[in-house]
Amino acid sequence: MKNNFRSFSQQEINTFITELGQKPYRAQQIINWMYKKLARSFDEMTDLPREFREQLKKTACISNLKLLQKQVSSDGTQKFLFQLEDGESIESVLIPNARGGNKFTLCISSQVGCALSCVFCATGKLGFKRNLNAYEIVDQVITVKRYLLAETQHAAPLQKLYEYSQPAIANIVFMGMGEPLNNLQEVAEALRRITSLMNFSKRRITVSTAGIVPNIYKLAEIIPEVNLAISLNATTDEVRNSIMPINRKYPLKELLKACKAFPLSAFRRITFEYVLLKGINDTKEDALRLVKLLRGIRSKVNLISYNPTPLQKTMRLFEQTDLKKILEFQSILHKAGITVLIRKSMGADISAACGQLKANYQ
Ligand code: SAH
Repeated sequence: MKNNFRSFSQQEINTFITELGQKPYRAQQIINWMYKKLARSFDEMTDLPREFREQLKKTACISNLKLLQKQVSSDGTQKFLFQLEDGESIESVLIPNARGGNKFTLCISSQVGCALSCVFCATGKLGFKRNLNAYEIVDQVITVKRYLLAETQHAAPLQKLYEYSQPAIANIVFMGMGEPLNNLQEVAEALRRITSLMNFSKRRITVSTAGIVPNIYKLAEIIPEVNLAISLNATTDEVRNSIMPINRKYPLKELLKACKAFPLSAFRRITFEYVLLKGINDTKEDALRLVKLLRGIRSKVNLISYNPTPLQKTMRLFEQTDLKKILEFQSILHKAGITVLIRKSMGADISAACGQLKANYQ
């Protein structure tokens, strides 16, 4: 088995290069090629001497995610289906930012499948296969970024003159497949690489959790300053237990206590995701309870319209809350001084919307 440079930490690359009898700056060159210039092979690292590249290729390799399929939605959202080395597959979704400017939010996966079985979510229905390695998480960012840059190179030369028109990943959210806080070690290492090697600001990264309470405390300790999102989706334990089984282990009170303890720097807030399910969690009483629950937490709320998943036939059936009721719900929060957005669901026509990932593949 060759040594996979993707799996190596910065330190491991340093050690490997030194043991080959090379100067330490060569390690930095390789790291820049991999994480800044997004190289997929040693051959692309053209400023390394040819003999050195040949030497590397004898004992080392660079693995790459294999793009199985890319779908483009009518709203510009793109869904990437990637194959991993063991044949499993994961999805990443690139969403154009509402403000435009050729900026995107990249939604990445942290696990193959998910163990949490939230009843409204297609990934939950698939069950859990395995955790992703740090490098499989980072490689989603590298591959999509490389893809975006390649697109620009094909664009009209005039467009290249304008820096602002260069497409760029402005935000990264761990809202793809899986529960990131059930894979904290690898997610943390991925965050280290994305921030220190790819120079991506922690403030533009959001880790979203269904509420793995002990790991919310740990996240704050090991990766301070990363943004936290909580998929709340209910205002009583009874309802939350029935739609998100993880709530039986970590009930609302403990979850909100962890949120209150989560350190936030100036102007930062915790995002609470709230998928509205008709007749289940969308009443006026829910909105009022939500206001109470969030008291004392610097928060913003994203109201998400439920996306019927392609697996609906085999899943419990939910219906979307009517727009009028969504607006009423929003207004109650708004009047209580809570920042609340109705999140437009993107990519529904290609099953790239929240909770739909991987639904068409088995
Ligand atoms: N496990 C993490 C990361 C997955 S994020 C978490 O739960 O936060 C997935 C987001 O999509 C969550 O906020 C979830 O509540 C939402 N979601 C899941 N299924 C959905 C559906 N069918 N319609 C709308 N949103 C959904």
